[in-house]
Amino acid sequence: MIYHRQLEGVTDVRYGHEETLDEWTDIMEDYVERNCIPYTSRQKFMLITPTRLSPVRAGVAWPRGNFAVATLDNSYPVIAHEFGHLLGAKHDDGEVRYYGWWCETNMISPSTSLRSNCYVFSKQANQHIRDHVYR
Ligand SMILES: [Zn+2]
Repeated sequence: MIYHRQLEGVTDVRYGHEETLDEWTDIMEDYVERNCIPYTSRQKFMLITPTRLSPVRAGVAWPRGNFAVATLDNSYPVIAHEFGHLLGAKHDDGEVRYYGWWCETNMISPSTSLRSNCYVFSKQANQHIRDHVYR
């Protein structure tokens, strides 16, 4: 993983609107081409934002794609959730588990603040991720 911060014309993209992922995708495709970055299904590019994309949306990703946007705003599993989508995991892979209290695995959607985070992918999500990575 390579973490970049404050790349002019890249990380300062306007977000929080319906076309955020489309715009981020266009910007990153140009960036990848200009910088001769190898572009394969294993290359993933995520814009991490300090605030949500909208009151009801914390992140968005192209399923099994290369690009995603996720917020750090009060929702720790969002980055894992969107990264899971990039790697082939689906909402149906999400599970609610009980260890003295209920927790949600990374792909659960919608999430509720009444449950805690399990901080893991379910077995089914892990299988979908393995299928994507090793196909
Ligand atoms: Zn999702």
